[in-house]
Formats: sequence, structure tokens, C-alpha cells
Amino acid sequence: MAEPLEELRSWQRPLRAQFPIIAAGPGPAYLDSAATAQKPRAVLDAVQHYLTTTNANAGRGSYPWANATTAAVERAGTRVKEFLGDPEPDRSSVHFTSGASQGLRTVALDWLAELLGDGDEIVVPFADHEANLAPWLEVRELLARQGVRIVVRELPYQDGSGDYDPVALAAVVGPRTRFVAATHVHHVYGADMNVHRVREVVGPDVPICLDAAQSVGHVPFSVAGLDVDFVVFSGHKALALPGTGAVWARGRRGPRLRPGGWAGTPNTAGIVSLSAALDWLDAAGTDRIEAWTVALAARLTDGLSRLESYEVLGCRSSLAAGSAVQRRRSIVAFRHHRIASRDLGFILYSHGFMVRSDSHCQAGAGAGDGSVRVSVHVYNTVEEIEALLTTLASLQ
Ligand code: PLP
Repeated sequence: MAEPLEELRSWQRPLRAQFPIIAAGPGPAYLDSAATAQKPRAVLDAVQHYLTTTNANAGRGSYPWANATTAAVERAGTRVKEFLGDPEPDRSSVHFTSGASQGLRTVALDWLAELLGDGDEIVVPFADHEANLAPWLEVRELLARQGVRIVVRELPYQDGSGDYDPVALAAVVGPRTRFVAATHVHHVYGADMNVHRVREVVGPDVPICLDAAQSVGHVPFSVAGLDVDFVVFSGHKALALPGTGAVWARGRRGPRLRPGGWAGTPNTAGIVSLSAALDWLDAAGTDRIEAWTVALAARLTDGLSRLESYEVLGCRSSLAAGSAVQRRRSIVAFRHHRIASRDLGFILYSHGFMVRSDSHCQAGAGAGDGSVRVSVHVYNTVEEIEALLTTLASLQ
């Protein structure tokens, strides 16, 4: 078995055992963590403990349960900042959401719409997740109704790799560019989108909003290193409960994010679960989670490249030094040359694999055949990937 999978096996096995839904097996292999991740026992216990000891509303009452809930929500905000490697926690803010979609809409409607003036330009991705395109277009429509004309430009991609194209981007960015939306890891191609290069091209002053739905919880995170202004992520893809997510806002460029309207009662149990999930991820080690999931995805990519009937989307070549596949994270999407992706999804389930097969909410993907997407997390194993490859080979 290739490094680092062999080295990490004894680290990974007890961690896998901490996921009750997985440990309850044997059952079909869960290979759809890009949609939502499974939850470790520690997260479930934290929620159970909260709901059975101090459940109350946050920021309202002054009795002990209410105070404990308020403190738990505040602690979770601090935890998010720490987890993201926030270098200036006193200047930044964290706003909890139901997931990345709501987070991106919050940045769009509660922050970007106020910033823009007539003739301003924004640069956004047209082939990433729909959630990272629709809100920016909504801002354009909203402002157009007020007589303010915004130009929306496409963040360009390099052919074949699924990555952004910094050279083409340089031609798109101009003196009226006020904002860039980008994605950290692509939800179909699995590519690390090299956002630091986007920053190099747009210069130090243009705010960047990063959709980190597929990277938070999978890779060590450093907002300082990425030099972005907003990080939006889904808690539920980072081992927390469904209906959780957050927006981190640096507050260094432009006005501060002030989520508008009456937010009402927050998802306190979900927020507690997010704190616990981030604790679990830190204890497990995001560097090792990254090494494990990247190696599993690379093994699947390499195995598929030897099977003639399949086409891997995005970076597809081998693990040779300098190959784009080294930047592939925990996601591999592919098509069979003759079997429709939706059918392949059903066939794979009948062989014991839960994968996603459609167009994965990709903006501009249309109603075509889509692809089969396999996405892994810390609980997945080499044996699951090998068994999947054996099944895929039998369907050649
Ligand atoms: N952005 C990316 C890259 C995603 O993969 C997803 C979900 O798949 C989203 C945004 C939307 O996240 P949520 O379902 O938490 O709203």
C-alpha cells in the first residue's frame, strides 16, 4: 500500500470507529461526504448534553440555562476563528447560518449590495456551485431595480484542470473591480482552486469571498495564508449537525458584515455541535485528515485512469510529481462511456456504494448526463476504494 495510506492506517482505524452510523455496519460504503458528512460520537454527545442540561434561548434570558446557552454560542464563534487560523480575532466576526448557501446570500445581500455603486464590477465563478453564483446575480438584479448598474464578470477557468486561470483573470480585473467570489475546493472536480493566485492578480484591496464548503474540515485552514475577507462554510459538511454553517468576516477591507433583519432564535444545538465538531477535527488533526482523504482520492483517480470505459472529470492524470492530480482533494467525479451516470449510481448502490450521480448543483451544468461523484472523509477506507474500483472494473 502506498504512503501515506499505510502510515496513517493505525491513526485512521480508531477514528472511523467513533462514527456510530459507520461503526454500526456492515452496510453500504458512504461515499457522499461532499453532500454532507457523518457525525462522530463526540458531536452527538455534545448535543445530547446541551439539550439535556442547559437548553434555552441565546442572548435573551438572564437565568443560568440562558446564560450557559449564550456563552456556548459565543464560544462557538471564538472556536470558528481559531479553527480558521484567524490572525486578528478582535477585528473579525462570525455569523452562524444554516449552511454555505445561506452564508453566501448573507454576504451578498447584507454586505455586497451596500458596497456597490453604478458601473462597479464584480468577478464571480460561473461553473462552481450554484450557491456561489446565484446570490451575486441576485445583487445585480436588486440594484438594477434601484437604477444602479453592476457589471458581473466571469472568473475564468483553465481548460481541463477545473482550476481558475490567473492569466485570463488579469484581463478581467480592472479599476472598477470591487469584489471577487471564489471557491477553495471545487465540489465536482475536487481541485484546490489556488485562491492565493487570485489574490496576487486582484491586488491587496479587493475583497474576496471564499466558498470553503469543501475544504473546512478537510484541510488545515489559514485565513492569514489565503488572505481572503470572507470565509463561508457548511458546518454539516464539517461533521456538525445538519442546518449549520458560518460566515467568517475579516472586517479589514470595506464595511463590516452586519447581517440584516431580525435573526430570531439561533440554531443553538447546531452551534454547539459545530464547536464539538471543530474540537474533534483539531484533535484528529486536519493535516492527517487531508493526507488520508487526498491519498484515497488519488488512489481512485489513478485506478480509474487504468479503466478504459471511464473518464475522470477535472485533473485526471497520474500522481507523478507536478501533476495536477496532486492538488485533487477528497472528491473524484467520473463518467462511464456507455452507462448513464444516473444508472451507474443505482448500479453502484446495488453493489454497496452510496455515491452521488447528477449534475451536483454545478452552475451552468444544464440537464445533461452529469457524473458520478465519490467524496471521502476521515471514516472512509482503502478497502472501500479498492472494492469500488473492482466493481467499476467489472462494469467495463
Ligand atoms: N458551495 C459548495 C462548494 C458546495 O459544495 C455546497 C454544497 O454542496 C454549497 C456551497 C452549499 O452548501 P449548503 O448545502 O450547506 O448550503
